[in-house]
Amino acid sequence: MEQYKIGLVPGPVTIPPEILKAWDFNYASSDLEPEFFALYNQNQKLIQKILHTQNKIVITSGEAMSILWAALKCTLNPGEKILAVSSGLFGEGFAEMAKSFGAVAEVCGFDYDDVPDPEKVSAHAKKFRPKVITAVHCETPSGTITPCLAEIGKIAHEVGALFIVDFVASAGGVPLDVDAWGIDIGLWGSQKVLSLTPSLSVSSISERAWEVIEQVNYSGYEAYKDWREVLEKKYMPYTHDWHSMKALNISLSSLISEGLENVYARHAEAAKLCRDLGRETGLKLFPKDEKNSSPTVSAFYVPDKFSWNGFDTALRKHGLAVGGNYGALAGKVFRVGHMGSQANSELVKIGMSIIKLLIENS
Ligand SMILES: *Cc1c(COP(=O)(O)O)cnc(C)c1O
Repeated sequence: MEQYKIGLVPGPVTIPPEILKAWDFNYASSDLEPEFFALYNQNQKLIQKILHTQNKIVITSGEAMSILWAALKCTLNPGEKILAVSSGLFGEGFAEMAKSFGAVAEVCGFDYDDVPDPEKVSAHAKKFRPKVITAVHCETPSGTITPCLAEIGKIAHEVGALFIVDFVASAGGVPLDVDAWGIDIGLWGSQKVLSLTPSLSVSSISERAWEVIEQVNYSGYEAYKDWREVLEKKYMPYTHDWHSMKALNISLSSLISEGLENVYARHAEAAKLCRDLGRETGLKLFPKDEKNSSPTVSAFYVPDKFSWNGFDTALRKHGLAVGGNYGALAGKVFRVGHMGSQANSELVKIGMSIIKLLIENS
């Protein structure tokens, strides 16, 4: 297939050469070597720093959807209640997933071009009394960032619910404080800000979440319970992905050595440039209020003169790949992913200049 010269898809993002190097080695079995456990532990500590948490970190193989399922199946029995706070496709998805195995789900819903209102969440949670409340930090399809996770976390703790947050497309690139925001289970993927293959998933799990996990006692490939003491027992539930674990180490170390504040600034700058250039080109931003746009992804309406397919094909001819959309936004809204290796103002400038050229010449 073609390797697009200008990759601005909101995940999987372009893997930089220094991370690709992780695959240039034949590792022994991760089950047998103490070195693997040491690498796992080193990654856990780096992740705790980036997520600002003392909670235990679990790193599993599989794309991020595997831990969205794990978080729900390990904390909810059939018949138990979950409130999905939603302003987009991933938010709603939590409710659909939970219903599929018999949990009772309600959605506290907001428009896709908006963000949740904590007062409405509070009223809904007090009435419904769920066991679990879910929220999404960056709604990638909508290009929005939820600003009120700390408030929702407080509400969850007030009603005695576990607070589960999908920060797959934000963590690392956006300020995030798992402990201060009361996030019991935080979910992070590898193919967004971390700029790896879609191969690993990271979960931060609080003590009160572990208690629920032990009670529910779910077993299955994605089950959390056997990950609690992998280091103490020197035993993993399955053969781990050493190459990806090494790649993760390179990625986490580079975020730390760049300095988190600098990483956030690099994302904010690329995002602002993308929106400014989009506006100059006559593109309309999808989020109703620009301040709710995510530093990791910008969502714009597909320009009137184009169908999404026509627009996408023309951009690809110029070597530019951006993201389309799903569900109600399919064909209407497209996304420019400036996260991880793609949070690069030069790259964004080139990408947006191709979009401009295409619009001006149509
Ligand atoms: C990317 C992403 C996931 C993982 O889903 P895939 O579509 O399988 O990549 C989960 N949640 C959010 C918010 C994401 O952006």
